[in-house]
Amino acid sequence: MKSVNQVPVFLFSPVILSAFIACLIWISAAPALALDNQLDFEQVSGLITTISVITAIPTFLLLHAFALKRHKWELELTGYATTDPLTGVLNRRAFLMSIEEEQTRMRRTRAGASILLFDLDFFKRINDQFGHSNGDEVLKTVCEIAHSELRGPFDRIGRWGGEEFVILLHNLTQHQAAHVAERLRLRIQHHDFAHTNGQLDVTASFGVAPMTASCEISSVFDRADEALYIAKAKGRNRVVLLSAE
Ligand code: GH3
Ligand code: MG
Ligand code: MG
Repeated sequence: MKSVNQVPVFLFSPVILSAFIACLIWISAAPALALDNQLDFEQVSGLITTISVITAIPTFLLLHAFALKRHKWELELTGYATTDPLTGVLNRRAFLMSIEEEQTRMRRTRAGASILLFDLDFFKRINDQFGHSNGDEVLKTVCEIAHSELRGPFDRIGRWGGEEFVILLHNLTQHQAAHVAERLRLRIQHHDFAHTNGQLDVTASFGVAPMTASCEISSVFDRADEALYIAKAKGRNRVVLLSAE
């Protein structure tokens, strides 16, 4: 794989060419310079300076264009490393990193935060009935709906795996978080996922768990997972909040 830190040598070709031409000029001018008065030393060095300046401009432009392109590559690589390719939300690793950042912030601000874990109900049936690619479209739309429920720069959404997603809600109480989950649940339920093969009904079950600045992240996920399990067991399409003991 190409390293983004390597600057290709060809970008320096104008400068190399200029040095080559300068050498040629010096070599061909040397005999005339040696014979006094036949060629002015200042004329020769002036010519070489002019060539150097002219070739420095394309070199600068090439290097500048390369720097812009490298910046674009870096953004693309960061995007590939942190997002889920299907839905565009954070992947599991990037989401966990954002949770750690949130805990660091919480130590300063003393704000609360909660985790929402949600899983689409009977999604296998949707795939079976409408096909995998329509299932993919449902996943993308659900992420768009969920994304529109995020408020502020510190809320995050990630794909936990398959048809399971996770949301970090910053700076609200666990009951406010459960309220957001309920709103999202209703929006998914009432969204028109119309399809020519028939009515495509989508619902999701939610587990909500609060987190603190010092708690173990894995224990928050365990609680959110347990809450989600209860929501499924109670009949799906509902929100269950599990407070910290
Ligand atoms: P439950 O209500 O218990 O969650 O039932 P479920 O059918 O949603 O759960 P199950 O674990 O049995 O099936 C999950 C399905 O999600 C099966 C799998 O093929 C599908 N799935 C996982 N990832 C994707 C994906 O990226 N695209 C599509 N279309 N389907 C996916
Ligand atoms: Mg499911
Ligand atoms: Mg699942």
